[in-house]
Amino acid sequence: MKEPVGVCIDCGEIVYCEGGHLAGIILEDHTLRCSDCHHARKELNKEAQ
Ligand SMILES: [Zn+2]
Repeated sequence: MKEPVGVCIDCGEIVYCEGGHLAGIILEDHTLRCSDCHHARKELNKEAQ
């Protein structure tokens, strides 16, 4: 069962909750980011260090 939770603030894709697991993260200001953008961001941060 896939339920749309909201829209990713980075790419605009719909973020789903599937079987109780959110396919992304909720940020501190209660906006959503999909797992793809979240992982892409982590890699960018790694490269920056
Ligand atoms: Zn995204």
